[in-house]
Amino acid sequence: MCGIVGYIGKQKDIRIGMEALKRLEYRGYDSAGMAVYNKERKEIDSIKAVGKVASLEEKLRSTNFEGSPFLFYTRWATHGQVTEENCHPHADCTGNIWVAHNGIIENYQQLKQELLGEGHVFLSETDTEVLPHLIEKFFTGNLEDATRKALSLVHGAYALAIIARDDSEKLVLAKYSAPLLIGLGDGEYLAASDPSAVITHTNKVIYLEDGELAILTPKTFSIQNYQQELVERDAEEIEWSLEDAKKGGYPHFMQKEIMEQPESIINSLRGRLLLDTGDVRLGGLEQVQEKLKNIEQVEILACGTAYLSGSVGTYMLQEYTGMPTKADIASEFRYKKPIIDKKTAYLFISQSGETADTLAALKEVKKKGGLALGIVNTVGSSIARETEAGVYNHAGPEIGVASTKAFTSQLTVLALLTLFLGRQRGMSFTMGQRIAKEIANLPVLVKETLETTNAIMEKIAIKYQGARDFLFIARKYNYPVALEGALKLKEISYIHAEGYGAGEMKHGPLAMIDENFPTIALCPSDSVYEKMISNIQEIKARKGPVIAIATQGNEDIKTIADDVIYIPKTLEMLTPILSVIPLQLFAYYMGILKGYDVDKPRNLAKSVTVE
Ligand code: GLU
Repeated sequence: MCGIVGYIGKQKDIRIGMEALKRLEYRGYDSAGMAVYNKERKEIDSIKAVGKVASLEEKLRSTNFEGSPFLFYTRWATHGQVTEENCHPHADCTGNIWVAHNGIIENYQQLKQELLGEGHVFLSETDTEVLPHLIEKFFTGNLEDATRKALSLVHGAYALAIIARDDSEKLVLAKYSAPLLIGLGDGEYLAASDPSAVITHTNKVIYLEDGELAILTPKTFSIQNYQQELVERDAEEIEWSLEDAKKGGYPHFMQKEIMEQPESIINSLRGRLLLDTGDVRLGGLEQVQEKLKNIEQVEILACGTAYLSGSVGTYMLQEYTGMPTKADIASEFRYKKPIIDKKTAYLFISQSGETADTLAALKEVKKKGGLALGIVNTVGSSIARETEAGVYNHAGPEIGVASTKAFTSQLTVLALLTLFLGRQRGMSFTMGQRIAKEIANLPVLVKETLETTNAIMEKIAIKYQGARDFLFIARKYNYPVALEGALKLKEISYIHAEGYGAGEMKHGPLAMIDENFPTIALCPSDSVYEKMISNIQEIKARKGPVIAIATQGNEDIKTIADDVIYIPKTLEMLTPILSVIPLQLFAYYMGILKGYDVDKPRNLAKSVTVE
């Protein structure tokens, strides 16, 4: 997500911050800002720019800003459009407290109402801005005390770097569920979201832990927990190169993004599930809540992996809302002379929010007066702006061209939407609670799946690396996952792969099967399990090797399949979020074995802005 840099020390040259911020650009962002304390004038100066860090740099050239401490920041918007006003650092009413924040403050609406009632004036639409105002409320001259009091009222995720004009010899840091570290320099400290920002200054870093506050002065630092107990921690030595550091120690962005799916799903769920009532709160749909009560059908439009997540969504929505739901490839939609229906919600899914084909279908729906909704990862993108309402993924930037964490985040949001629309349409409280509980458990199950399948999928890739073709089969909820598994393998390893509904085998593809043509069969213990077993038997009868993705505890499958990969048990509609993980890993390891650049597959681009 965003990037934070904080500096305090003997130097006054803010180019140190600029350089460090540039090394965080790879994390993805949409705007950048900074704030610096000027000792002579006893003021904090700040400047912000939409777009690239280079734009901020350009603006800074026409200033004479200098001093210490200072903050530099890249924002990856989650709450509020991509504008200068919404970019950080944010200040309190008097320009005293300045805050750079990475994460989401879940209870910001309630806090903002209270602060507005007390006369605080807000300048942005962000969740973050409640923080400087809350700190202002408690500030009596000591920045860390006021910060501690403010944070006791806050729920959510945050990495914070804070400075104050009226306590100017300090840089205060705080962390909960978002990364932050202190780089220990010579007579200076450089705090940052990740080591790549500090690596050219120092290789000694201290990672903050959740619930910790750090107080840095030009010559000293201390770390405390929120009970004000001192924390002793030795510095770690970073042995990574700059390139390694950007990837968080993983060799490729694709692997990093596969591995961070437990966190990206937590971010997609944050503040949205109401476990007590079995409900979902989707702030982005509030303004169309009444309209949604009257819709009778859903049509999902998307491309590539997003189309496949949408296809899983059709099964979810149709089963639990009772509304006819279909998914269409956005690039084909216009050619069918689309009939836009007033009682249909048109749902557009796109990671980048810039997918040209999806945007073209969206414009067609809008022109004809349809209700257009979005599931988009990038805040302020074209699709996010053009849709009437929508839900952001908050999955963080995805750098690898082949989508992984965006797919599971889209599925998570579709599950939330299913619960939301289902509860509007008579889904019982008990059922609502059950689904909500299962959704809340997903990050734990995804983590377990990653831990138990990672090494096995590498071995399976080695075992089958000579195969020229692969078939992926499944039924019902996992049918689109079979298509996604084949797509991933094609994208990353350039191996020919086909995804099929298992019932379709006998209508054609079975002819291809022989001992050299392996099949990956998704057969979790669900309502179509028996039928899947019959299809696997048909393949085995023709000597086709079978790799089965099955539910933990299913020992029988070992007697039929050549290789078995187990995933944990969950609600049938949520199994795709687990079953896709071994398929992502399989494609990744296959690509590595073939020696390809898995982050940038040939002929492909991340954001497909041409039709
Ligand atoms: N939620 C904050 C915002 O929208 C911070 C986003 C980030 O971590 O970049 O401004």
